[in-house]
Amino acid sequence: MTHANSSRIQKYIGDPLSDSPEVGREKLEEIFQDIQADIRFDHELNGCLNCGICTATCPAAYYYDFSPREIVQLLWTENLEGIYDAMQEKIWACAQCYTCAARCPFENSPGGLIMLMREAAIKHGMESAKNVLRPFSRVMLKLISTGNQLSPDMINADGFPDWGPNISKVDAPLKILRQAIPMPTLNTTATAWEVNLTTSVELYTIWEETGVLKQLETIDENLYDVILDIMDEKREDLEDWEDEQD
Ligand code: SF4
Ligand code: SF4
Repeated sequence: MTHANSSRIQKYIGDPLSDSPEVGREKLEEIFQDIQADIRFDHELNGCLNCGICTATCPAAYYYDFSPREIVQLLWTENLEGIYDAMQEKIWACAQCYTCAARCPFENSPGGLIMLMREAAIKHGMESAKNVLRPFSRVMLKLISTGNQLSPDMINADGFPDWGPNISKVDAPLKILRQAIPMPTLNTTATAWEVNLTTSVELYTIWEETGVLKQLETIDENLYDVILDIMDEKREDLEDWEDEQD
């Protein structure tokens, strides 16, 4: 990382992953305040002995240049430049397994704190968040438009080359196999199960009200536009269906 030696009194810090202008202290404070203002923050950070137990048990620390101890220390000491720096890359190494939370003698949750930092990275449209989430746009589109994350017809040799010869086990007459499932909502291949129209529209409302869609707009404007169109269409379909019932 290029900012490993950043001092706490540094006035500006650049984003090594983008051409954005350097970030001023006000912005650093705003980002930290967003993390700190979350209701979960005080439950997940109760002090830090700097003992390193979290890092010793962290699977991501084994494989990457990443340490939950370091992240917790940055937050505990309010090292704004270090926090911003960690949000450019390191926070995305966490596997969210929460082994650290089970082990910390202070009952901190480094994994939970990292989740807050990720949410702040998305809210502030950081390049790191865009880069990490971009490959998942197909899954996000599927999830938001159908209520399903993965559908049977997405599991194929092209989509999962890492499965090797095991992929042949799912390379079968899917339609027939799915129709054999006794639950009618599972007799589908384009979705994992059928989500009814009312539930879909209710989900859209939840995503709107909780700010999920706003966050998506920050990260991927094109995907956001596509999803808005799908939502409008489904809302109209629901209205038509309700009119028919009257
Ligand atoms: S977060 Fe907990 S386990 Fe990790 S260094 Fe601090 S006190 Fe130790
Ligand atoms: S939640 Fe993240 S930081 Fe904690 S042990 Fe798992 S991978 Fe490591």
